[in-house]
Amino acid sequence: MKQVFTAYNLSDAYLVKSLLDAEGIESVVRNESFLMEQATSDGLPGVWILDDSQYEKAASIASSYVEGGSQAEKEGASWRCAKCGEMLESQFTTCWQCGADRPEGK
Ligand SMILES: [Zn+2]
Repeated sequence: MKQVFTAYNLSDAYLVKSLLDAEGIESVVRNESFLMEQATSDGLPGVWILDDSQYEKAASIASSYVEGGSQAEKEGASWRCAKCGEMLESQFTTCWQCGADRPEGK
């Protein structure tokens, strides 16, 4: 068992699990009970895979979710267009100014 994703809420955790399911990677969500017990407990919910040999694939799925998903929006991370230099809000995946795609890994 390896943890591939730490979520800040359960819906994030289950979304990542469903992405892994779609790729045929078996996973479980752990530390689900923290919401009901104590808000500041030691465990945020996480997604763990059952087969460690799939870790690399699972981790890349999880990180692409983080980049394209709710966490980036929560942090309000903006990005700069590589083509024209326009600053764009995190919810845009293409530059409204020149139409260039958001660069990978940002
Ligand atoms: Zn641009």
